[in-house]
Order: sequence, then structure tokens, then C-alpha cells
Amino acid sequence: MTLLRLEGIGKSYRQGEVTIEALADVDLVVETGEFAALVGPSGSGKTTLLNVIGGLDAPSTGRVLLDGTDMTALPESRLAEFRLFELGFVFQAYNLVPVLSALENVELVMVLQGRHATERRERAEHYLELVGLEGMMHRRPAALSGGQQQRVAVARALAAGPRLVLADEPTANLDSENATALLDIMHRLSHEEGTAFLFSTHDVRVMERAERIIRLRDGRIVSDDRVEPGH
Ligand code: ADP
Ligand code: MG
Repeated sequence: MTLLRLEGIGKSYRQGEVTIEALADVDLVVETGEFAALVGPSGSGKTTLLNVIGGLDAPSTGRVLLDGTDMTALPESRLAEFRLFELGFVFQAYNLVPVLSALENVELVMVLQGRHATERRERAEHYLELVGLEGMMHRRPAALSGGQQQRVAVARALAAGPRLVLADEPTANLDSENATALLDIMHRLSHEEGTAFLFSTHDVRVMERAERIIRLRDGRIVSDDRVEPGH
């Protein structure tokens, strides 16, 4: 089933006299539950594309349809709410709130969603267990390793029950052992929950774990292949 549809996405930035075309003619369909990597050299448009899909940045041209809703046509207030329920985000820097425990960090998005305290706690504990942090839920981010913090970020994204998780170079600050461990967790949860993931990377070992590889160059999709994971 189609989850995400990008139609003719373009994004340009004006810098004084010059216009930088960060994205051009991007058409893309992502199905429910897909586990896809967005790859390409630095400056190819990966972050811009993820930000456009995430509603964090408006495209200059084209439409972003998620679950049939045209996100580009939503007013800002509706867009924020739509994002809160439909999308999960995992960033390169772990982006956890430093004064909150792992458990509280995972609960935070669900507070914004208006979920009941009991349900929040249950879901937060459940997802932290799924990412292998059962003994560490009360630790603050500073008392966790980078790999553990990123697993909290994955638990936080999934606990909110999104249809699609967007992850911009989620392993960029991890060593390769932690990077592949994180990807294996993301992959397993993607299957178990039926949640689609779209993550950018230029790490080959991370790319190898994807079921689909979408290559960007100079803001355009140059190839898009379904692959056997571990190929
Ligand atoms: P990637 O994530 O693949 O490294 P980006 O999406 O960050 O690529 O950048 C794509 C292009 O858009 C680059 O040429 C970059 O310099 C440009 N760009 C990105 N964001 C901005 C911005 N806010 N203002 C001007 N140019 C930008
Ligand atoms: Mg980037």
C-alpha cells in the first residue's frame, strides 16, 4: 500500500545572486513498512529531501502526500499535528533532552500527543525494552553511550506510533559495530511494527541492511533499487 508519494519535488535556495537547486524533479513512492536507504555524496540533497518529507521545510515545487494527505497544503498548525501523529524522527545528533531520563525522553512526544500517563509509561517501557535498554531507563542521556542514546531516539520515534520514521544519518556519530547494531534494531522493529523507515547514510555497512536503495546526485534521484538485505 502506498504510504508516501512525492510528486515533482523541487527545492531551491537563493544565496544573493545565485540560486542553489538542492532538489529537482523528485518523484518517489514509499510503501507501508518499507525499509529504505537514501544515499548520495555530501551535498546531494539527502537532508533537504528528508526535511521536505518531514514537513520541516517547504518544497519550492511539487507535493508531498502522506497517507493520502497533501502535507504541502496543510496550514502550519495542522501540519504540526499531522507530523506529531504520523511521523517519527531520528537525527544525527541524538537530540535527547539532557535533563530527562531515557524513559521521560520517550514519554515526551506522547505527552504532546495527549496520551494518558499510564499508557505513556507502558509504551515507553515497552519500546525501551525492545531496543535493549531495560536496565537503563532511568538514566539521563549523559550516562548512556552514543549507541544507547540513539536507541533511545529510535524508541522515542516508535513509541509515538508513526507510519513513517525519517532518520538523517542516524549512525553518523557511531562506530561501525554500534552502527550496524542500531540498523538491525531499526530493521527488526520496522518489520514487527509495520512502520516504514527512510534513512540517509553514506556508510556502506549501513546501506547493506536496507531493502531498497535510493541514490541521489545533485538533487535528483539517479537510481532506485530493491535489494536483498545483506547483499
Ligand atoms: P546532503 O544532506 O546530501 O549532504 P543537503 O540536503 O544538506 O545535502 O544539501 C543539498 C544542497 O543544498 C547543497 O548544495 C547545500 O549546500 C544546499 N543547501 C542546503 N540547505 C541550504 C540552505 N539552508 N541554504 C542554502 N543552501 C542550502
Ligand atoms: Mg545531510
